[in-house]
Amino acid sequence: MTVESNSLALSKRIEAVSPSATLAVDTKAKQLKASGVDVIGFGAGEPDFPTPDPIVEAAVVAARDPKNHRYSPTAGLPQLRSAVAAKTLRDSGYEVDPAQVVITNGGKQAVYETFQVLLDPGDEVILPTPFWTSYTEMIKLAGGTAVTVFADSQTAYVPTLEAISAAYTPRTKAIVLNSPTNPTGAVWSEAEIRALGEWAIEHKVWVISDEIYEHVTYDGVTTSYIGAVVPEVREQLVVLNGVAKSYAMTGWRVGWLIAPLHVAKAAAKLQGHLTSNVSNVSQQAALKAVSGPLDAVAHMRAAFDVRRHLIVDALNGIPGVHCLMPQGAFYAFADVRGLLNKPLGEKHSVATSSAQLADLLLEEAHVAAVPGEAFGAPGYLRFSYATADDLIVEGMKRFHEWVVNF
Ligand code: GLU
Repeated sequence: MTVESNSLALSKRIEAVSPSATLAVDTKAKQLKASGVDVIGFGAGEPDFPTPDPIVEAAVVAARDPKNHRYSPTAGLPQLRSAVAAKTLRDSGYEVDPAQVVITNGGKQAVYETFQVLLDPGDEVILPTPFWTSYTEMIKLAGGTAVTVFADSQTAYVPTLEAISAAYTPRTKAIVLNSPTNPTGAVWSEAEIRALGEWAIEHKVWVISDEIYEHVTYDGVTTSYIGAVVPEVREQLVVLNGVAKSYAMTGWRVGWLIAPLHVAKAAAKLQGHLTSNVSNVSQQAALKAVSGPLDAVAHMRAAFDVRRHLIVDALNGIPGVHCLMPQGAFYAFADVRGLLNKPLGEKHSVATSSAQLADLLLEEAHVAAVPGEAFGAPGYLRFSYATADDLIVEGMKRFHEWVVNF
């Protein structure tokens, strides 16, 4: 390679990062659909409901107000930071200062900024696995190393404390807690969360608690909040959240982090160079959402619950597929190892990995799912069931027929 071409190369940092697999599946499915193929998408997880009217109305009013046409404080509109603090007291049961809240461009930016402000090159982050696909890439972007701790359906996808302890090294800087969990739908019990919090205090490790699915739980199971269960952990806790999943607001891009003051200030400093304030119109919509009732999410939860049974029962009816009933979020995480290395479909296609299986399922049966490889769990497929009942029925019918018709 010549000196010239080297100097024009992209950074090693960006070359080492994989594209978002969830968004890639979604894009591929949408492209196929646009080209006339009748694809059923179980790819990216986003509620299929419209954002509730009062929230949309608040945005319309905000868009007409010239004060929202200007820059606003980087860390967020003061009213929204206060409303997030009030919402935290209401839902999580403990007090935070609005100054600890930083409003971000979706939950994703909160995750990114947290790793950027906490990690130095070589620092390790313990990552319960299966994990949401972007954590590993964002840890890499901050120079850190993800240390995965895999838990399978035997322990309902929650790693034991022994397994977590075994992953600890003097370089461990943080552990990620994501309950309810994307992609498995696991919900950690209060006892598991207490044990993790106490372990983190003992080992002086940051806890990064992604609570974006807090209101999406089933069968009377509720989310336990580590900041409430183990109050002493709050000094080393960063909570990540946003309006996307609870209020069907994925496209509005409003999230937040709540952290000890010095961490919140550092994140705001970073954000001052990245994006400045989140769109004021979106923030005003989020203000309406978080300061309002939780009836929209209750309605969505009831619909998701019906779909959860529909899809999990259908998946378990397919020979070679096993799926645990998830307790939260809106994903069915199916073990498809029984389908690998066998002829499938009329073309007798053979997949040797779940990544290949996902490709074949899309190409031949026109059903889009995200392969487990994206979540550190080869041998599985993730199906988002935040989609219409009839599409779930049709998609599962296609998957079933494709498997048995060879
Ligand atoms: N968090 C959702 C998912 O896992 C949305 C897509 C993404 O940002 O990854 O599908």
